[in-house]
Amino acid sequence: MQQLQDRFGRRFHYLRLSITDACNFKCQYCLPNGYKPSGKPHHLAPDELSRVMRAFAACGTRKIRITGGEPSLRKDFEQILELAANTPKIETVATTTNGYRLAEHAADWQRCGLDQINVSVDSLDGNAFARITGDSRFDLVMKGIDRALELDYRRVKINTVLLNGHNADQLPLFLNYIRDRKVDIRFIELMETGLHHDYFKAHHLPGTVIQQQLLQQGWQQDPSDQDAGPALNYSHRDYAGRIGLIMPYSKDFCATCNRLRVSSIGKLHLCLFTEAGIELRDLLGSDNQLPELEQRLHRALLGKHETHYLHDGDAGATPHLASIGG
Ligand code: SAM
Ligand code: SF4
Repeated sequence: MQQLQDRFGRRFHYLRLSITDACNFKCQYCLPNGYKPSGKPHHLAPDELSRVMRAFAACGTRKIRITGGEPSLRKDFEQILELAANTPKIETVATTTNGYRLAEHAADWQRCGLDQINVSVDSLDGNAFARITGDSRFDLVMKGIDRALELDYRRVKINTVLLNGHNADQLPLFLNYIRDRKVDIRFIELMETGLHHDYFKAHHLPGTVIQQQLLQQGWQQDPSDQDAGPALNYSHRDYAGRIGLIMPYSKDFCATCNRLRVSSIGKLHLCLFTEAGIELRDLLGSDNQLPELEQRLHRALLGKHETHYLHDGDAGATPHLASIGG
């Protein structure tokens, strides 16, 4: 089966698979009032997730990121990691987590086949971390990152959402942290979502503010690799870690898009924004449906738009990113 490709020549080898929309944190920009379940959870079961992964792998996907909500809340999280790692042709299994279980389980997850971890840490100041996330377990999260480094995971990254009024002045803290640690910090511009227009207006900070400081301090942009997607990465010879900038509001951001998303209820999202999702679940009940599922993926890609409409203030149908995995 040929590789997933859209009308603009972009190829998609990276799947972000959400396994739950539930979360135990209350990040101000995501679930400020905490997770509110809407009815009985009907998240994809492991056999359905496995079919999603196999179909994507047959269409050229080589990297799967397990995300959420908070993916490690699922009791069968380790089984799902194993399924991902054992999917033929998948070369990299990653997860994005708030890190509250990392210190305890980093070794178990690695045994299950997890290669890369992104941990969300919006501030390296414990008080600011608690203010932003509504959770006071900063030290535990940081211990988890140290544990992952000890275990020599292929890559350990920190995701930091840039927030005016919270962490805009904390670049020095982050740089100090990665001087001797092989951790990549990814600064992500706050994205506007359906439920958070006012928060966005008050706290959005352009990534160029960080970019300028990095360039002034001798950081250099890396040549982009196949995995980078829309991130711009920077290195400096005096630092063990790297910095990545994700600036969805910058020109041409969508030109290097290499990822597709499937939500925890089995909807394909061609973009984080702009559409309500394409149903896949009716084709996830049996292995016999895999060829039809693959065809649906190919057909769906023809409808992918060239860019998002965030510049027009259109955040599409996405209420918050916990709903489809960020
Ligand atoms: N719970 C996990 C976590 O926080 O790492 C995984 C899911 S979370 C939705 C995935 C990523 O999306 C996190 O790094 C989070 O900071 C980021 N995120 C959530 N809402 C965002 C927004 N409005 N703009 C930019 N990034 C956002
Ligand atoms: Fe939970 Fe992640 Fe959203 Fe924070 S960003 S509320 S940890 S899903």
